[in-house]
Amino acid sequence: MKIKSFKDPDFKVICDFDGTISKNDTFDQLLERFADPIWQDIEADWVKGKIGTAECMRRQVELVKISKRQLDNWLSFIQIDVQFINFVKFCQKLNIEISIASDGIDYLIKKILAHYGLNSIQVSANQLIFKEKNKMTLAFSEKLNLCDSKSMVCKCSIAAAHKKSGKKIVYVGDGHSDYCVSKRIDLVLAKANLLAYCKQHELPHYAIDDFSDVMMRVKQLIRQPESVIEKNVDQKKQFFKSLNS
Ligand SMILES: [Zn+2]
Repeated sequence: MKIKSFKDPDFKVICDFDGTISKNDTFDQLLERFADPIWQDIEADWVKGKIGTAECMRRQVELVKISKRQLDNWLSFIQIDVQFINFVKFCQKLNIEISIASDGIDYLIKKILAHYGLNSIQVSANQLIFKEKNKMTLAFSEKLNLCDSKSMVCKCSIAAAHKKSGKKIVYVGDGHSDYCVSKRIDLVLAKANLLAYCKQHELPHYAIDDFSDVMMRVKQLIRQPESVIEKNVDQKKQFFKSLNS
């Protein structure tokens, strides 16, 4: 397939990480492997609504007792969708900005990406802090009041910051932490729960299985940009206006 070179594409791509780029949820895997099993009780309290997301995540991370070296070693075995690597190269070649917005943990994501040679991607996620004696904790950024997602990383404000460039946003995701932001961007490339959500709320979207589908849709966007980004324009305009005022 021959694609015209796009020096200045009029959209950016934001991707979720866990389950979208990585095959499994990295944080859950970390807890299963290295945390005291009481992390599951904390999870149950969160599911029941007894504690909030920040408290849940922080208490769970504080149950993980490993050295940085052990952690790095373990992270080198985490698998991602290999098609993502091709997709990043493709975006770089065409000057399409790609970034990651995750409600996971920044250190884990950056280490995993670095293992695949993907060091240059901007990552927004919760911040891991190493403390003395193999202990760690988490720090969170502030949330936007407009966001009704339960996640600690406000993907809506990340999308809004990108939107200030005047470019459209294509969002790639799979789950609950992607619901809120999906109502506020231009096109969703969705799988799993997010796909059902997009169908239910009639959001402009395409179904994907992996990043080869993402690449196919992005190529399509470049060829016929107007054909895919249309619905819910007024609703989104209003949202971004309220953010910028
Ligand atoms: Zn939101």
